[in-house]
Amino acid sequence: MNYDRYYTCDLVNGPGIRVTLFVTGCQHACAGCYNQSTWDRKSGQPFTAEIMEELLAVCATHDGLSLSGGDPLHPANRAEILNLCRVFKQRYPEKNIWLWTGYLYEDVQNLEIMNYIDVVIDGKYEQDQPTTQPWRGSANQRQIIISPQR
Ligand code: SF4
Repeated sequence: MNYDRYYTCDLVNGPGIRVTLFVTGCQHACAGCYNQSTWDRKSGQPFTAEIMEELLAVCATHDGLSLSGGDPLHPANRAEILNLCRVFKQRYPEKNIWLWTGYLYEDVQNLEIMNYIDVVIDGKYEQDQPTTQPWRGSANQRQIIISPQR
């Protein structure tokens, strides 16, 4: 898996002060996408064990981890996202993970990754469906709370 960037003090991708990882690789090709540079999963840099450890260390002083892109659930990203989520929850069981995906929740809800995700924002970005709802890019997208305590 490659990643485009990560933010270590993010206030706009979920509640609190978060660490947000933008991976590369997306097959949805939404018109008006702001992150077209992340569509190619070969773009960006390798998400190495060192980078993962660096990111996880920063999470110690933050409220949670946000996963975006690109699409963290691009088939080529799923194994490494699963590993990242598993290690994050082992280390920080009290902290939450939010995940943004262009897939509909119904199509990915049975992935093992979902055992570790607290909140999903799902669905493609539809530029003709603007919204003022927090965390969402367009009105069709849903905020799905998987873990009820979050
Ligand atoms: S799912 Fe997100 S990253 Fe992928 S094309 Fe749509 S808006 Fe862009």
